[in-house]
Amino acid sequence: MHLQHHISLKPYNTFGIDVPASAFTTIDNENQLSEIPQNQKLYMLGGGSNILLTQPIEGLVLLNRLKGITTEKESEDHVWLRVQSGEVWHWFVMQAIEKGYGGVENLALIPGTAGASPIQNIGAYGVEAKETIDEVTAWHWGEKKFVTYTNSDCKFGYRDSIFKNQLKDQVFITSVTYKLNKVPKFNTSYGAITEELEKMHVQELSVKAIADAIIAIRSSKLPNPVVIGNAGSFFKNPTITKAHYEELLKTNSQIPSYPVNETHIKVPAGWLIEQCGWKGYKEGHTGVHAKQALVLVNYGNAKGSEVWQLSEKVVQSVKERFGIELEREVQVW
Ligand SMILES: Cc1cc2nc3c(=O)[nH]c(=O)nc-3n(C[C@H](O)[C@H](O)[C@H](O)COP(=O)(O)OP(=O)(O)OC[C@H]3O[C@@H](n4cnc5c(N)ncnc54)[C@H](O)[C@@H]3O)c2cc1C
Repeated sequence: MHLQHHISLKPYNTFGIDVPASAFTTIDNENQLSEIPQNQKLYMLGGGSNILLTQPIEGLVLLNRLKGITTEKESEDHVWLRVQSGEVWHWFVMQAIEKGYGGVENLALIPGTAGASPIQNIGAYGVEAKETIDEVTAWHWGEKKFVTYTNSDCKFGYRDSIFKNQLKDQVFITSVTYKLNKVPKFNTSYGAITEELEKMHVQELSVKAIADAIIAIRSSKLPNPVVIGNAGSFFKNPTITKAHYEELLKTNSQIPSYPVNETHIKVPAGWLIEQCGWKGYKEGHTGVHAKQALVLVNYGNAKGSEVWQLSEKVVQSVKERFGIELEREVQVW
């Protein structure tokens, strides 16, 4: 194990926050995991695209670089691909598309590693990772062995799983097996996909055409972390009761909504934040993105604590105006 000390984590998080880690090492072979000393707090790091660093990291950061894809099994209709957790998610999506396998094309261009895909059950354009995840294998720090979790063990929810709850900080995910469709079922129902496909003059639907459309939409809407530091959606879309929604409708006739079940409704957090006047707001080196109010940004040398404080103000104002408590999607270190 090659240990480094007092290194800056700035290159390792998409917010571009500059904090030091007291110890840092790279994991490129899963056998290394059993040798990691556990006398300090361990921080598992993938692409750093869903974290906000608010203070110097006192502990050992484990940068995941486990690589490789293997075909586990095949049937007439499906293929099971086991992907090592340090593979870049978008690269894996492109591999699947090249082979014509369906299931992950709507999740193209989401930053980060494959290993993080089950953690918050990544989702976009009407599709969630849980629909293709067959099982997840992880090194369990307490049990000191590899454990495999089936799809139902993972307790997937909206941007949620067992890995954000009972197993938080308990395991290092080493691989994820995805069950992909050899005969893709296209999902173009969400957002502007159909419009984009028309704009692209697509004659015949394919996983590649859908991914291309999604890449085009995402590139036009979301700030590129290479240019402006950010971690994508900072907040989750809140779920409220129907009664609460109907009450809000009386004074906010334009409020968008998506049914969750008979009794609950989901409301876009971006709309709520925008209504409170935050879109395009700047404060020091941080702010709320001008095109997408759900995204908090680092315009230069923002501290994680400044981004956190801004997020507190956003949470407070949405609570005061709508009586809705926003929950952060980003993991705070
Ligand atoms: C521009 C942009 C757009 C985005 N769009 C979306 C989107 O459309 N949908 C969506 O769902 N998300 C989106 N995200 C959020 C982010 O890309 C995902 O959450 C992604 O899965 C995070 O992967 P990562 O490897 O960067 O995780 P990291 O940020 O490195 O880690 C996130 C958390 O997971 C833990 N973790 C990471 N790897 C492991 C592991 N191997 N074992 C155990 N724990 C681990 C970390 O400790 C941390 O708590 C976006 C982010 C950005 C910057």
